[in-house]
Amino acid sequence: MFFIDPHIHMVSRTTADYEMLALSGVVAVSEPAFWAGFDRSPAGFMDYFRQLTECEPRRAAQFGIEHYCWICLNPKEAEDLGKAREVLAEIPSFLACPNVLGVGEIGLNKNTPNEAKVFQQHVQLAIEATHGTRNGGKHALILIHTPHLEDKLKGTRMILDMLRDFGSAIDPARVLIDHVEEHTISLVKDAGYWAGMTIYPISKATPARAVDMIELYGAERLCVNAAADWGVSDPLNTHRTMLEAQRRGHKLPELLKVFHNNPAEFFGQNPNFKIKPIDVLQRTHQQ
Ligand SMILES: [Zn+2]
Repeated sequence: MFFIDPHIHMVSRTTADYEMLALSGVVAVSEPAFWAGFDRSPAGFMDYFRQLTECEPRRAAQFGIEHYCWICLNPKEAEDLGKAREVLAEIPSFLACPNVLGVGEIGLNKNTPNEAKVFQQHVQLAIEATHGTRNGGKHALILIHTPHLEDKLKGTRMILDMLRDFGSAIDPARVLIDHVEEHTISLVKDAGYWAGMTIYPISKATPARAVDMIELYGAERLCVNAAADWGVSDPLNTHRTMLEAQRRGHKLPELLKVFHNNPAEFFGQNPNFKIKPIDVLQRTHQQ
């Protein structure tokens, strides 16, 4: 079984984790820009973006894993509009790097007006990059973080409203909205966006709840990730979800779709992403 981990923060993980991911079938990882656990200066962001675009691809390559990433100022630090202005001015040049898939993980944290403003500015950057009115990143996709717990439903609605305001400039098929749960998944999928489910030890979804959602809402435009980072998290929760689906009788074509081909299809809209979906019937015949 081959996996693509669509959301993992490898800057916070050890080299042993890279090896474990490779041993467990992971062929590519996608790393959104996020909060470091402390607020950074604009110069700190430039160093972080270099780490994502230069250092992590080299670390991953030692284990045969392709490393892709996303660039943004995370929502938690978007309250400081001066800092946001400085960081956003530098983003277009990083969107042109060969392992960058787009702008992310943007979104909301506490659903404040400043967070909303910076979210819209990021979306605008992705649109301008995609339409070639700025340098680089001609195929920028968008990866969106939705808030935690009690803020999630309101934040998801705010995000969907803001995206709708961009009208035809936004193609929902080029946007993935992450950390969906039972009360937000259909809002996201019904509007035509991709949805991501995050399997966390302490919040968000569990493997059993994630497989319930696959069964209830279908595997189309749905990805699973562990979003492993510097907190309490586990990169193998994606695999545990696959095992739970297998235990319930889901067959190889559907498992491959959710854990490899769906991310390959979504990310593959940016030509920087090189891994193609696997034709499971062809593989079965070859075996
Ligand atoms: Zn994340």
